[in-house]
Amino acid sequence: MSRRRQIYEGKAKVLFEGPEPGTLVQYFKDDATAFNHKKQGTVTGKGVLNNRISEFIMVRLAEIGIPTHFIRRLNMREQLIKEVEIVPLEVIVRNTAAGSICKRLGFTEGQPLPRSIVEFCYKADELDDPVVSEEHITAFGWATPPELDEIAGLSLRINDYMQGLFRAINIRLIDFKLEFGRLYENDEMRIILADEISPDSCRLWDATTNAKLDKDRFRRDMGGVAEAYQEVARRLGIIPESGPRDLQGPDVMQ
Ligand code: C5P
Repeated sequence: MSRRRQIYEGKAKVLFEGPEPGTLVQYFKDDATAFNHKKQGTVTGKGVLNNRISEFIMVRLAEIGIPTHFIRRLNMREQLIKEVEIVPLEVIVRNTAAGSICKRLGFTEGQPLPRSIVEFCYKADELDDPVVSEEHITAFGWATPPELDEIAGLSLRINDYMQGLFRAINIRLIDFKLEFGRLYENDEMRIILADEISPDSCRLWDATTNAKLDKDRFRRDMGGVAEAYQEVARRLGIIPESGPRDLQGPDVMQ
């Protein structure tokens, strides 16, 4: 058992109180859920891979001026992050039709979209995270109009950058989900990127074969989930030196 105070437990992560005020420790589990908890499982090594992949992407994003909650990786499964007030929205950016947009609007998986689309979903498990409009968001006070402009602008910049990052390693960024938070500093509030960016939250297809390298392998019982995440880490150049065996090594959360 951990000595630290647990703040929140989600589907794939746990948040603990951090060592200093205003910080949290984000722990990445191997647990996987899909279809709003209806499907549950474990993918050995997933948490370690997502910790590394999310670190890698957040550091790159910070380098191009995107404010993020990431401070530093602590160990195999944990990273230190800034504590934020989470905006209760899942921001989805889509470049190619896949997943729920196909069901909702009748697109075929893999169909190109005329331009990148930003969708907002209200974070509410009991409602299955419904798609909502800017009207809902501002009228119900989930975010203000300027906050929403900031969130949409940041999301499109992140999409541009990530599309290039993945294209360089022969991966197509089909879509992904982001979460943002409010950071209060010296009487000022800033919107910053929170949560994680990993194959749990992105659709990533091999650009040559269209092989899925993401959580759809788990959702659709395709097998090879950990191998797909490892492949993404390997192509990004971040797989541990000693190879995948290292991914199951001990960590501080025994
Ligand atoms: O299911 P849907 O097609 O709307 O998902 C769009 C993208 O958002 C996918 O990359 C999926 O992995 C991600 N997503 C997520 N968490 C959710 C819902 C979607 O990471 N709760």
